[in-house]
This record gives sequence, structure tokens and C-alpha cells, in this order.
Amino acid sequence: MADQVEKVVIIGSGPAGLTACIYAARAALQPLCFEGYNAGGLIPGGQLMFTTEVENYPGFPDGVDGPKMMKAFRKQAERFGTRLITQDVYEVDFRNRPFTIKSDDHTVRAHAVIVATGARANWLGLPNEKRLAESGGGVSACAVCDGALPAFRNQDLVVVGGGDSAIEEGSYLTKFARKVYLVHRRDQLRASKAMQERFFKLVEHGKMEPVWNATIVDVLGEQTISGVRLKDVRTGEQRDLPCRGLFLAIGHTPNTELFKGVLDTDDKGYLKLPNPPGTRTNVEGVFAAGDVADHVYRQAVTAAGTGCMAAIDAERWLAGRGIE
Ligand SMILES: Cc1cc2nc3c(=O)[nH]c(=O)nc-3n(C[C@H](O)[C@H](O)[C@H](O)COP(=O)(O)OP(=O)(O)OC[C@H]3O[C@@H](n4cnc5c(N)ncnc54)[C@H](O)[C@@H]3O)c2cc1C
Repeated sequence: MADQVEKVVIIGSGPAGLTACIYAARAALQPLCFEGYNAGGLIPGGQLMFTTEVENYPGFPDGVDGPKMMKAFRKQAERFGTRLITQDVYEVDFRNRPFTIKSDDHTVRAHAVIVATGARANWLGLPNEKRLAESGGGVSACAVCDGALPAFRNQDLVVVGGGDSAIEEGSYLTKFARKVYLVHRRDQLRASKAMQERFFKLVEHGKMEPVWNATIVDVLGEQTISGVRLKDVRTGEQRDLPCRGLFLAIGHTPNTELFKGVLDTDDKGYLKLPNPPGTRTNVEGVFAAGDVADHVYRQAVTAAGTGCMAAIDAERWLAGRGIE
């Protein structure tokens, strides 16, 4: 691999990266994929490796276990000749061509690169929170993914956060929940005016209820969540709020540290795509797919969709330069 120049290197092996691999491999580009090791707290397969049940990915009428689905993605990518390196990329040079991509044991040169390094949800950092999230015990960072699960129906749920996405997630959950409590550490929301209006309408109708000036200091329950322990930020007083689900809405961190100063990002650190829906970045020959460039939808199916688009864009870009 050292001397040859790869046609396309794909960084990341979540739904976006592996879909890009499948399309690039079928287009005879012999893609090389750095599938990651533990960069950004993620492992090969990406975010879905941390979930038990995916119910909204088309083609699985009975739902599918996240790791099982990603194993199938990987197998399909390999079937068409994708080569995978189970290491994190720690350095890239996109200023000189061909590009250079480095991991611990490999320095690879490539004409085109697809960045699919994903994003990670921000967590509160409480031990019971992670435990109950990973065991499917009722803690989630994605209402659209998990809100419709039977365990949450007609139950009291808690959303933590005070921005647009907290209101978005909370109002989505009101379709299923008995009531949704919005826990926020301040006494007013950061959300936009329109979202605040939506929130207060739901409060008026008894579907949501704010819990102001509060932080969550513990998540209660052994197998499944039974409540959260709140701390009043002004008095320090603690109390328990019973609930059957906790949804984190305190933001995501895109895995873009590697590309700082080279690829343009927005103010939240997501990669900017200058010509949407095209997937090219500000550097010609570098494309982006999935959550790393999407703070809006953040779904497996949208990530896979843009992975497909990035591979097609890369293939056409390479063909335009006579690299086929
Ligand atoms: C707990 C949980 C449950 C979810 N449930 C659902 C659901 O039910 N349905 C749904 O549609 N969506 C769900 N989502 C969202 C979904 O997982 C994401 O939208 C999707 O995984 C994004 O795919 P991606 O390929 O863009 O990135 P990710 O899945 O984030 O994958 C990123 C990849 O990049 C790799 N990587 C990162 N940095 C480097 C580096 N420096 N070098 C090499 N590799 C690197 C990682 O190892 C990983 O393989 C869930 C998310 C979470 C966290």
C-alpha cells in the first residue's frame, strides 16, 4: 500500500462510511477504509454499535440489533473488495496531492478521500447514565430513534437540555409519552423564539413541563430507569423525579478535530458542504458523508444515503480527471 496511490480512501465505518465503501467498490475503485479503533469514543461500525434495537432502518420490519446491522454493512462492503484497516487516522495532509492519510502503522496516499467520521452525542457523564443507555434500560440520546419504543409509551419521560434540539426531541416524545419533563439548568430556554412558542403551547396543554434551574446528578434504576435525581442549582437541594425514560439533548460533537484548519466547519464544528446536496467539501477531491456534516437529521438512513452520494461524487470527480 505504501507506494501505490489509492483512488479513494474512506475514513470511518458507520453507515455513511460503509455505504460509501459498497458504492465505491462496486464502481471498481478498490476503496481502502480506515474503519477506526476508538477515535472520538467510537469503534468500528460507529454509533449503532452502542444500541440494541434499530426499528426505523428500512428493510427490517421486525427491527434489527445495531451491531448486527453494522456487521452486515461491513460484510457487504468486503464482498465487493473493500480493504479495511482497523486503526484511527491521526493525521491527514489535504494540502498536497495526492493526499496523505496516516494511522499508527500505515501512511497511505490517495487521489480522493471520503470523510465519514461521524459525531458523538454529548452525555452528562454519570456512571448510571452510560450503563442504562448501553443496556437499553431507558436512557437515549436520540428521541427519533428510540421514542416510539413500547417501553416509553404513555410514560413520564425526561429530556435534558434547553436549546432547539431539546424542544424538538421533547415535542416529538409527546406523541408517545404521558408527559415530558424538560430539565434545564437555567430559568429560561436558549431555544429560538419559534421553538419556545412550540414548547409553551405544549406546556399549556399539559404535554410538557419545565423543570428550571436543575441539573441531573444521578440516574436511578437497576435494569431500567426509574427516575432521575435532580439538584437545584440555586439551593443545592436534591429531589427525585420518577420517569421511565431519559433523553439527552445537550448537543453532539462532530469528529472533525483531525481536519481543523483544512476543511471548513460551521460554528458547531460540523463540516461545511459548499454545494448541497453535493458532498464535496472546500477541498477538491475531499467529500463528506453522514453525521460529520449533518447536525439536522443524524439518522442511519440519512448517513447511508449521503455515503452513497459521496461515493458517486468521488467516482465522477476521479473520472473527470481520468482516474478510473
Ligand atoms: C445509542 C444510539 C442509538 C441510535 N439509534 C438509531 C436508530 O435507531 N436509528 C437511526 O437511524 N439512527 C440511530 N442513531 C443515530 C445513528 O447511529 C447515526 O446517525 C449514524 O450512525 C451516523 O452514521 P455515520 O456513518 O455518519 O457515523 P458514525 O456512526 O458516527 O460512525 C463514525 C465512524 O467513524 C470512525 N472514526 C471517527 N474518527 C475516526 C478517525 N480519526 N479515524 C478512523 N475512523 C474514525 C468511527 O470509528 C466510526 O466507525 C443512534 C445513535 C446512537 C448514539
